[in-house]
Amino acid sequence: MKTFYIETFGCQMNVHDSEKVIGTLVTQGYSQVDTPEQAELVFYNTCSIRDKAEQKVFHRLQQFKKEHGKGKTFAVLGCVAQQEGEKIFEKAPHVSLVCGSASYNQLPQMLVQLAAGNRRVTGLSLDTEDTFETPFARRDNPHRAYLTIIEGCDKSCAYCVVPFTRGPERSRTSASVMTETRQLEDAGYTEIQLLGQNVNSYRDPSPAGWDFAALLRNMGQAPGIRRVRFTTSHPRDFVKDIVDAIDEHPSLCNHVHLPVQSGSTRILEAMQRMYTRDEYMRRIEWMRNARRPIAISTDIIVGFPGETEADFDATLGLLDEVKFDSIFGFKYSRRPNTPALNLEGQIPEEEKVRRLAIVQEKQRAIQLERHVGYVGVVEECLVEGFNQATGQWIGRTSQNKTLNFLRTDSSEVLAGRYVNVRVTRAGPNSLAGECVN
Ligand code: SAM
Ligand code: SF4
Repeated sequence: MKTFYIETFGCQMNVHDSEKVIGTLVTQGYSQVDTPEQAELVFYNTCSIRDKAEQKVFHRLQQFKKEHGKGKTFAVLGCVAQQEGEKIFEKAPHVSLVCGSASYNQLPQMLVQLAAGNRRVTGLSLDTEDTFETPFARRDNPHRAYLTIIEGCDKSCAYCVVPFTRGPERSRTSASVMTETRQLEDAGYTEIQLLGQNVNSYRDPSPAGWDFAALLRNMGQAPGIRRVRFTTSHPRDFVKDIVDAIDEHPSLCNHVHLPVQSGSTRILEAMQRMYTRDEYMRRIEWMRNARRPIAISTDIIVGFPGETEADFDATLGLLDEVKFDSIFGFKYSRRPNTPALNLEGQIPEEEKVRRLAIVQEKQRAIQLERHVGYVGVVEECLVEGFNQATGQWIGRTSQNKTLNFLRTDSSEVLAGRYVNVRVTRAGPNSLAGECVN
């Protein structure tokens, strides 16, 4: 039996793509090992969203350069593969397979070519209407399952490589999504996380023609599924009907990740985000008026070309106004092929560092203030595991907050169960409490 090792960089989409790649390899007779040293085939599933992520991959490949010709086969998958293409063979001659995510459904044929001794195998076409569907995905988490509903991206944000690396938007049929949901229920999963670069741009290509809210309503009625999450939502396609669906179905988690990127309408326009600050705020208002309090998280980019102090202040003002439950803050990174690459007004690195630190400090205070409001409240948690170091169970609330708790009356294994926990303490990044059932 041939052995393989896979390391994954980047987002949840990549993590789940790797689960599908692993499933495909295992059904082709390969067996997974824990280190690259033990493996005949070494896969890197890569991310190129920011320069740092891309450099990590070349650093990894460099470490194994001397293995060239010693019987190991190296493969680069994902966004760096798509972006750099055959140039990877020049930079790292020990690589034999370069394959972007839009070509993963041809992996079995590519494995055959590799096994036949072909040392330059590529899968770089973006010209596909297919999604990477496999009944063999190997999921690591026994309770929560990722489920892709839409791949690629049809937007063209000025800073972003995704439309070039993941190709055009392709939605799965609603029948295929619901079939996989039933399979996951049967396999004992209780939480499903729907995935897509813009999950809410979902549009069923079959005659049923469901939009994202219709899909959510159907997922919300799946009998064995207690929680449905979804990420990432694009503000432009975020309609009020999504909030109505969350209101109607308690199993649809009351958490929405809605990346704003900037609080300045001028910068949003330069970023080609297709919404204004006011339009974004309208979506926040819909969520604030929901029956259950919806936790809202976001992504912020600081130092986009031309971002003035006034623009940056507008982002800080937006943080104050919305009081997000959490944020991912990024320094703008210049990416190949993107419209913003050669824009004037690039911001010096030290200034980006300074702005990011200010954003993070402000947000930390906001999160602490928000979390203090949970003290005394009882929250249902899905138990994710036990932290030996602190002696606490790790739980996750529907709002996607980490709630660590003690349970003194029993040494039962709780992982995968749903328990009620009273919050007793609050920190900026997590809550702590005591189990009440
Ligand atoms: N499709 C989602 C959306 O539009 O909101 C986001 C997907 S993207 C993979 C994840 C995040 O990476 C973005 O929301 C953005 O904040 C960040 N990002 C993307 N390109 C970036 C760049 N060139 N520099 C810094 N951050 C970037
Ligand atoms: Fe990138 Fe914009 Fe597409 Fe999101 S919507 S993946 S940020 S191009």
